[in-house]
Amino acid sequence: MDLFEYQARDLFEVHGVPVLKGLLARTPEEAKDAAERLGGGTVVVKAQVKTGGRGKAGGVKLAHSPKEAAERARDILGLHIKGHSVDSVMVAEGADIAEEYYFSFLLDRAERTYLAMCSLSGGMDIETLAREHPEKLIRVPVDPRVGLDAAKADEVVAATGFADADRAEIARVLTLLGKVYADSDATLVEVNPLVKTRDGRIIALDGKVTLDDNAAFRHPEWADLRDEALEDPLEVRARAKGLNYVRLDGQVGVIGNGAGLVMSTLDVIAYAGRHLPGRPRAANFLDIGGGASAQVMEDGLDIILSDPRVSVVLVNVFGGITACSEVAKGIRDALAHLGHRATKPIVVRLDGNAVTVGLAILEEYDHPLVTVEKTMDGAARAVAELASAAMERN
Ligand code: GDP
Ligand code: MN
Repeated sequence: MDLFEYQARDLFEVHGVPVLKGLLARTPEEAKDAAERLGGGTVVVKAQVKTGGRGKAGGVKLAHSPKEAAERARDILGLHIKGHSVDSVMVAEGADIAEEYYFSFLLDRAERTYLAMCSLSGGMDIETLAREHPEKLIRVPVDPRVGLDAAKADEVVAATGFADADRAEIARVLTLLGKVYADSDATLVEVNPLVKTRDGRIIALDGKVTLDDNAAFRHPEWADLRDEALEDPLEVRARAKGLNYVRLDGQVGVIGNGAGLVMSTLDVIAYAGRHLPGRPRAANFLDIGGGASAQVMEDGLDIILSDPRVSVVLVNVFGGITACSEVAKGIRDALAHLGHRATKPIVVRLDGNAVTVGLAILEEYDHPLVTVEKTMDGAARAVAELASAAMERN
């Protein structure tokens, strides 16, 4: 999950990273209030969108009075920056900038390590800097078992070539940012620009933070950071039910157990549909996991069947810990609850633990929308043909 700049600013502040005061505003009036609360002097009004390059797109503007802050907010709210509509701005104290630097700390997956990147040429787009002046971007690998400690921060600061007088303070700020990274289970903490003001202070002026969603279970406080309006409503519903669901852009709803089996199910559907009209594909990833109960199955089917793009569902379960009998009961209960709202065909392929009981339950239930296929390939062909035919009709 990526944070908005104002959320990153708040997080930095909690960890003692020097930042300027900033307040979120959703209307020009709120921006005016915020500017007044910040003392009525010069402020910066900044679009809150999860993309870079806001400055260039007109999303960062100085205002010299609360009234001007309202006007700048009016200009910025409603802008579209790289496809993101601006619904809020941060009104922040203005900085008197002498120099702009770049710093980031991130997970380097390819090298299996952490990486600190730093440059005296901040403010500009980092991809451009890395491409046009790679020698100006210092890269220092950091052992994940140690993290960005004082010694490592000193090394980064020396390699970057900061003025002697600034080194100690910059190194202090970098270790604090390293602590933000570690404590927040982040995969990226980027500050661009990290500035030196005319009165010699070092301040993180813009922050970008990516949190590792795999660590969400130990951060209940992250629930407040989620911007549910921006998220797919089905994904939000699925998360509320504790389901491992990702929406894709095809037409075949998929439920399986185990990430590997589900991913290969997505592949076999695409393969079966490759020459069919409309080239049907999977509409989602949904792994009900090991030991799934009938309730989990029912929740999953409910979410998938409420996706208007889904024309057919494939349930592909290889029962290990999960009993096929539970899967069959889940299908039966979901259809019973949905009643006449269930209008989409469901192709089921079951194998493994308790398969005989599972198939017997489905046979006895004998629902007109449910068909059973013996093999994964057969099931994939069946759903691809049904989805393709549905696309032809529409
Ligand atoms: P980005 O373009 O999305 O990365 O947004 P930034 O927050 O990095 O702002 C872009 C640029 O606006 C910075 O590099 C600064 O040059 C300028 N800027 C941002 N805040 C201030 C401020 O308080 N005072 C001044 N003078 N310039 C600012
Ligand atoms: Mn920036």
